[in-house]
Amino acid sequence: MVDGVTIYMNTKHTKALIDKYAFMRPDPADRWVFGFMCGDGWFGIIDKACAEIARELEHTFAYFHVDQIKEKFGSLRVYYSGGTEKIAAIVDDLESTANRTCEICGRPGYNKDMFVLCDGHHQQLAAGKMFENVLEELWSNDAI
Ligand SMILES: [Zn+2]
Repeated sequence: MVDGVTIYMNTKHTKALIDKYAFMRPDPADRWVFGFMCGDGWFGIIDKACAEIARELEHTFAYFHVDQIKEKFGSLRVYYSGGTEKIAAIVDDLESTANRTCEICGRPGYNKDMFVLCDGHHQQLAAGKMFENVLEELWSNDAI
């Protein structure tokens, strides 16, 4: 999510979503086999939306598959195939919740300069420290 750098959800969170929800698993033909292109602060809200979608799928025979998840200009974009009206509403809710959720830590946030961050992370971004901070988080999460 840092300008000029694509941030990926860490391995632990990515694996948690893929293990829990079949519709989140990459199709070998999909382009996002590299992972979810957004920060870990959105893991919680994505997980919650996935749980609601899984409940909806239990009651229908609808086909549903997430093709790609990415952050663009501070907005969460979910690209998917199939689904139902209810699933479309769940995804819309998720995307608008992301507009109020810090992409780094998941605390309440707001969009400024095309990044949805909490006050603390907006300050770090303004101070030019975000890049180091994010890289540090990525390294520490994936090193385990
Ligand atoms: Zn934050």
